[in-house]
Amino acid sequence: MRGKLADLAFDLGLFKPVASFSRGRGSLLMLHEVHADAALARYDGCTVDQLDRMLAALRRWNVDLIGMDELLPRLRSNNTRQFVVITLDDGYRDNRVHVLPVLERYDAPALINVPTQAVTRDLFCWWLALRELFMTRDTLQIGPIGRNLDIGTEHAKLAEYRRVQRWFAADFTRAHDLQPWFDDQGVSFPDLCDRFFMNAEELKRCAAHPLITIGGHSATHRSLASLPEAEMRAELVDNKAFLEGLLQKPVHHMAYPYGGKDQCGPREATAAREAGYLTAIAVRHGKLSRQTAEDPYLLPREDAGYHGMRERQLYGVINGLYGLRAGLGGA
Ligand SMILES: [Zn+2]
Repeated sequence: MRGKLADLAFDLGLFKPVASFSRGRGSLLMLHEVHADAALARYDGCTVDQLDRMLAALRRWNVDLIGMDELLPRLRSNNTRQFVVITLDDGYRDNRVHVLPVLERYDAPALINVPTQAVTRDLFCWWLALRELFMTRDTLQIGPIGRNLDIGTEHAKLAEYRRVQRWFAADFTRAHDLQPWFDDQGVSFPDLCDRFFMNAEELKRCAAHPLITIGGHSATHRSLASLPEAEMRAELVDNKAFLEGLLQKPVHHMAYPYGGKDQCGPREATAAREAGYLTAIAVRHGKLSRQTAEDPYLLPREDAGYHGMRERQLYGVINGLYGLRAGLGGA
């Protein structure tokens, strides 16, 4: 009911006066997977149609769609037109296959942030493994969660999946502690990497597209705040060197894995700057301002890639109306 009332208020344009006060100069939006298959999108990510509608709405609202290289110059300029930077994390193959044609249709640049191990096929992509298990099993016994999960129906699968996701998201080191459990389930991580992430050749072709900028996303996609200092710094430095070696061009931007307050903070921001990045992106509320450009190493960013995000919710996140937002954060 609250949702319907909010939709009605949005349709009547009642958010507009508030938005003009609540928004910053612009917004960074985060997406991950963009599926042609709606069955997968019910678990994670969004659909190609949803991305299409999102970009159509941004164009209709007369929002500038800019690339990440334009962010700092724009923040330092007197150009106060509202802008959005589209970012996609993890380097999914669907970004090249499904997202790129939509970006072309709207002439929308995007930053794709890629962890080294996705490309080298060594990534412990536990979130893909978890989804695979939920989609293919009727029961699941996850040790620390306690009981045997009965997931014989689509409804039960999705409900339990959300619950287990929240349990992992409360402390991302839990997933890494559970690596032996994933291995016991017969999950092949190289196979998942092959199925879902771009390989080196695909990434090179993607990076050559004029609308695409490639950013860093650490070497192993672990929660950086949980790592000892030297290891955390190596995550950033090694990933940058890997991507620059592969793509033969400088990598100026990065996004922290997971990106929440418990996964990255001032220590990681200092390391990102000293690794030579020009910007580093977190996942949190916040306004982009002229001041942001002076210390752009914990940039605020909003999740805009969850299934079923409504137009008013998109309007809410790009205008700082955070109460309108719904949905889980992402990796
Ligand atoms: Zn990620």
